[in-house]
Amino acid sequence: GALTTHSGRHFLQIPGPTNVPDRVLRAIAQPTIDHRGPQFAELTLDLLRRVKPVFGTNGPVVIYPSSGTGAWEAALVNTLSPGEKVLAFETGHFATLWRDMADRLGLAVEFVPGDWRRGVDPAAVAERLAADKEHGIAAVMVVHNETSTGVTSRVPEIRAAIDAAGHPALLFVDTISSLGSIDYRHDEWGVDVTVGCSQKGLMLPPGLGFNAVSAKALRAAEKARLVKSYWDWTPILEANESGNYPYTPATNLLYGLGEALRMLDEEGLANVFARHIRHAEATRAAVRGWGLEILCADDREHSPVLTAVLLGEEHDADKIRSIILERFDMSLGAGLGRLTGRVFRIGHLGDLNDLTLAGTLAGVQMGLELAGVAVDQAGLPAALEVLRAG
Ligand code: PLP
Repeated sequence: GALTTHSGRHFLQIPGPTNVPDRVLRAIAQPTIDHRGPQFAELTLDLLRRVKPVFGTNGPVVIYPSSGTGAWEAALVNTLSPGEKVLAFETGHFATLWRDMADRLGLAVEFVPGDWRRGVDPAAVAERLAADKEHGIAAVMVVHNETSTGVTSRVPEIRAAIDAAGHPALLFVDTISSLGSIDYRHDEWGVDVTVGCSQKGLMLPPGLGFNAVSAKALRAAEKARLVKSYWDWTPILEANESGNYPYTPATNLLYGLGEALRMLDEEGLANVFARHIRHAEATRAAVRGWGLEILCADDREHSPVLTAVLLGEEHDADKIRSIILERFDMSLGAGLGRLTGRVFRIGHLGDLNDLTLAGTLAGVQMGLELAGVAVDQAGLPAALEVLRAG
């Protein structure tokens, strides 16, 4: 039918893209400048320095005008050679897409099966690497926060498993939906390439992809033979030294990045992480109060940035989402891949506060009722109790 018009602000409660704060939108609206001029060079040098704490690194961060998928490709083509083995884990839809990409690029992927309800099992990492006596596995690929399932893998334990096996594999981590929202430490956790993007925890529109790169990854890049051109780190890092790029950068998104980093800095990263954990707790209190099932099956792995709600076979999650969109002007995340129609995802990351979340959960509760899902009305008050407690 015809789209209804709505008053007030749209509730964009998908797990990315997230709501872009007005401050960031205003920064993006500045005039586009000469990307080879002195003013741009100054902006770039400042940004390349200020972006490091979000990754927890002192090393280089490459910024691409790309979506997150481009930054994935960059991680692989810069460090690996045709036919090399990589170890990946089926934690959900995005881990599966990353496996597919590695396949298409001509890598030999060992894909450890999973049930889309758990993160990467550190014991499985230890076992596979210990069995790889010849050290044929060149890299381990991990999705930190599986956006399709609401499950966060325990990267420090995965690192420890690699070390315990005494294995030299590189460690690649996709932080596309965790960066700037969940505690993350590229250097301390010994990650070799961290893959990120702009449109989630960084509160920007889509259009920037990131690689944080370790010294070990830079050494691997010297020998890597996968074909690359646009994604090649070398000319970018060279140009970055003087605040330039070997192509036209996304000038206005970089203005936005500068403002978003200021906002994260003002709140303090530790406070940002704590806020996300608390909002996730409130959301889970609502879901349990409704009497519904949370997809994440391991209490150590609940995502601070989104919650996936699993419905019984008798309900169509997409129908519920469309009722909520029409009646309350709120977008929720769809079930992806094998979860299509079975789950809906509540995004609670980026620029939001207690009342944004309260409104979100009120909309979900009313939408479930309108869709004929039998829910206990105690869900919303249980969430408000968590929020009131502070
Ligand atoms: N990895 C994860 C965990 C994601 O959530 C997404 C997108 O949502 C991607 C990769 C792909 O990123 P993009 O859509 O920006 O290319």
